[in-house]
Amino acid sequence: MEEKNLFTLIPKVDEILDKDFIKELLKYIPRKIVLDSIRIEIEEIRTKIKGKEISEEEIVKNIEDIHIKIKKRAEEKNSFKLKRVVNGTGVVIHTNLGRSLINEKIMENIKEVAINYSNLEFDLVNGGRGSRYSHLEEIICEITGGEAAMVVNNNAAAVILVLSSMAKNKEVIVSRGELVEIGGSFRIPDVMEQSGANLVAVGTTNKTHLWDFENAINEETGALLKVHTSNYRILGFTSNVDSEELFLLKEKYNIPLIEDLGSGVLIDLSKYGIEYEPTVQESLKKGVDIVTFSGDKLLGGPQVGVIVGKKEYIDDMKKNPLTRAFRVDKFTISTLEATLRYYLEESVAIKEIPTLAMLTQSLKEIGSKALELKSKIEEKVSNDLFKIDIEDNFSEVGGGSLPLEKLPTKCLVLTLDNLSTQEFENNLRKFHIPIITRLYKDRVYIDLRTIREEEFHIVVEGISFAFNKVKGV
Ligand SMILES: *Cc1c(COP(=O)(O)O)cnc(C)c1O
Repeated sequence: MEEKNLFTLIPKVDEILDKDFIKELLKYIPRKIVLDSIRIEIEEIRTKIKGKEISEEEIVKNIEDIHIKIKKRAEEKNSFKLKRVVNGTGVVIHTNLGRSLINEKIMENIKEVAINYSNLEFDLVNGGRGSRYSHLEEIICEITGGEAAMVVNNNAAAVILVLSSMAKNKEVIVSRGELVEIGGSFRIPDVMEQSGANLVAVGTTNKTHLWDFENAINEETGALLKVHTSNYRILGFTSNVDSEELFLLKEKYNIPLIEDLGSGVLIDLSKYGIEYEPTVQESLKKGVDIVTFSGDKLLGGPQVGVIVGKKEYIDDMKKNPLTRAFRVDKFTISTLEATLRYYLEESVAIKEIPTLAMLTQSLKEIGSKALELKSKIEEKVSNDLFKIDIEDNFSEVGGGSLPLEKLPTKCLVLTLDNLSTQEFENNLRKFHIPIITRLYKDRVYIDLRTIREEEFHIVVEGISFAFNKVKGV
C-alpha cells in the first residue's frame, strides 16, 4: 500500500470521539485528558508510518487497536501521581514509602477538621486570636514531662529553629562522633550553618570525653548539643559523653543543653524485645533543656518535628520569624493530636499505632499471615509458573532508627520458572496499586511484617497481573 493510503486509514479525532468507548471514558476522565490522548496516539501512528520501520500489516493492526491505547493512556494520565503502595520490603519506617502509617480511626478526626471550619488559631474561651501550637502543647508535656512544647514541619526544621533561637552567632559544642548525616542531605554541620550558630566539633570520631567539651567552653559558647546517632553506631574502642555528664557542665557554666533525639521514641521498646533506644522522657529527666525529635519515625505519627523542654526557650522560639516558615498545618496538628492520645495508655499505643504494632508483631503472627497469603496466591495463580517458599528472614526498623536491629520475620520467597524475575518485579511495581518487594539472588522476597491482612487480595491480584505481563498475556 502507498504511504499516502496508510494515512487515510487513520480515523479522525471527531470519528473517535463519537465511539462508545470514548463516551464511557468521558464519564470519569476530564475531556481534555481524553482529547490529548487521542491526539497523541494518532500522532504516534503517523510517526510510525513516516518512519517506515514497521510493516504495513503492523500499522493496520495499530490503527485497529488505537482505542485500547487511547484508553490506557487516558487512564494513566488521569490516575493520581501520589498513591498507595503495598510495602513488602519489611522496612517498617520506610522513608521512600511514606514512613509511618496512620490508624484509619484517626482519619475521622482529620475529616472533621478538614471539611469544617476549626479553632485552629482561635481562642474559644476569650473569643480572640489563639495559637495553633496550643492544641498540642498540653498533651506533649503530659506524655513527656516537659514544661513547654511546640511542633514544626519536621525534625530538621526543629533543629534549625532551636539553634537559631538559642545560639545564633554563638558557638555550639558537639562531639565529632555525632556529626551525623541523615538521608536526604540533613547534615548536622550544614544545618548548624543554616541556623547561624557556629559549630565547634570536639573529640575524635571514636572517642569524646567530658573534658573535650569543658576545654572548648568560653564566652562565645551558646549551647552544648547532643545528637543521637540514629542511623549508625560506632563500635569498638569508643567513648562518648552522656547527657547526664553534659548536665554537670551545663550547671557549672550555665550553658543550655540541647539534644536532637531523632527517632522520638516515647515508650521503652526494649520491653517488647527491641533494642533499647533513649526515650524523650529520659532525656528530659536527665536535665536536657530542649529535646527535638521526629513525629513520623518511632513515634508513628505525621511528619513533624517536636520541640519540648524549658518554657523560657520555647517562648523565644514561638516568636522567632522562622517559626512562621516552619509551621504545621491543621491536618498535621489534628493527626498528631489523635496519635498522641494513644500514648496516654501504653498498651493502646502499641496496638493502635501501626508503626508500633508492626514493630512488636510476634514471629508467630507473621508466620500465620505468611501461610495464609501463600495459599491465597496458590489458589489464584497457576503454579507451574513459580514456587513459593516461606523463609525466615529479618525486617528492619528503617527511618534511620535502630540501624543494627534485626527483627526476625517470615518472607514469602518466589522463585520463577523460566521467566525473568527482574521483569516480574518491575511489573509488580506497575500494578495499579504498586507492590514493592525485594529482589535478592534472582528471587522475589515479600516480607509479611509490613503487609496487613486487608492487603492480601491486592498482593494476589498484583502477582497474577505481573505473571500475565511477563508471559505477554
Ligand atoms: C531523622 C533525624 C533527623 C531529621 O528528622 P526529619 O523529621 O526527617 O526532618 C534529624 N536528626 C536525627 C538525629 C535524626 O535521626
